[in-house]
Amino acid sequence: MSDTIPNIPFWQYLTGYEQLRSEYLNVVDSVFMSGRLILGNEVASFEKAFAAYCGVKNGVAVHSGTDALFLALKSLDIGSGDEVVTVSNTAVPTVAAIRAAGAVPVFVDVEEESGLMAVDELAAKISSCTRCIMPVHLYGQMVDMQPLMELAGSHGLAVVEDCAQACGASYRGRRAGSFGDIGAFSFYPTKILGAFGDGGMAATSDSTLSRRLLRLRFYGIESDYHAEEPGYNSRLDELQAALLNFKLARIDTAVSSRRQVARLYSEGLAGVGDIELPAVFADRDHQYHLYTIRTAQRSSLMQFLRKRGIETRINYPTPIHLMRGYEDLGCRKGELPVTERLSEMILSLPLYPEIPHEHVSSVIEAIRCYFGTGTG
Ligand SMILES: *Cc1c(COP(=O)(O)O)cnc(C)c1O
Repeated sequence: MSDTIPNIPFWQYLTGYEQLRSEYLNVVDSVFMSGRLILGNEVASFEKAFAAYCGVKNGVAVHSGTDALFLALKSLDIGSGDEVVTVSNTAVPTVAAIRAAGAVPVFVDVEEESGLMAVDELAAKISSCTRCIMPVHLYGQMVDMQPLMELAGSHGLAVVEDCAQACGASYRGRRAGSFGDIGAFSFYPTKILGAFGDGGMAATSDSTLSRRLLRLRFYGIESDYHAEEPGYNSRLDELQAALLNFKLARIDTAVSSRRQVARLYSEGLAGVGDIELPAVFADRDHQYHLYTIRTAQRSSLMQFLRKRGIETRINYPTPIHLMRGYEDLGCRKGELPVTERLSEMILSLPLYPEIPHEHVSSVIEAIRCYFGTGTG
């Protein structure tokens, strides 16, 4: 066996597709036969269903999660010279969207326990140029939103939630995307609600913002080919919307499968080696977009697993503030100590709703074996 081709993949969609293949093909055919491919009923009904799922009034479907973040900032008139406080322990697109809007990302460190935005360090990052806080609900778990919203309120700051990894996650009974001015979601295939291609959504209960978002995604036009302002083309296809609507109706099953896999990992890996398991909080609901452990022996464990055909990933290996593409921000190594330390320890294990439980057992067994506590 080659050590580069895993027989336990980190993620794949084919099993899920094959299970419902004829239904998916019916959805595709019904869109093709409808005679409408762009901004029709499928997009409108998905926007409505998704907004209801998140507990907000309006959804504006866009081309990607990055676009949802970017257009959210544009709709709030955040741009040149404005600072947006976010984290460096995130996917590149969080920060790319801030830069694309012309604003300046300012990084706050993360909490040791959760790896999420350290809300108690936010106040120190707020300057006279700060306009917005962009919390990132990473791995499927939400940031501590109550103190964050209080701080934003007292400083008059907008809040754009990066919900790309946290579709359906909740905090004190309310879902991700329903706290800030706008919640930005991604339907990239690997995400909790994944399209068969790219997709995103900006969710908001503010009807002025949703109207602005609707025209920004459509060349700035509201009607009659007349642009009210310079805009963009950032639409979700009818085809993807119809497929996403179909999957949204089944999301509870998919999420409970994710949780079941997470439970198996947590039971099987408790007390093994120096492993730290994902933190869980009584007031938050984890959706397990990723199951990310920590270990000081990350690279040798990863290599050991790879040799056994088990694919793992690092989400994410380099904090954004240390990337070449963001050198001009002038950040230095050592500036965000918790973020930097965690980036050397985190390791995400194979996880998707249809992952065979034998694969999960094999991963657990291999990790136990690495730490000398397994039977193999
Ligand atoms: C996936 C992701 C995005 C971007 O979504 P795309 O749909 O790929 O543009 C933004 N932020 C985070 C945290 C993500 O994981």
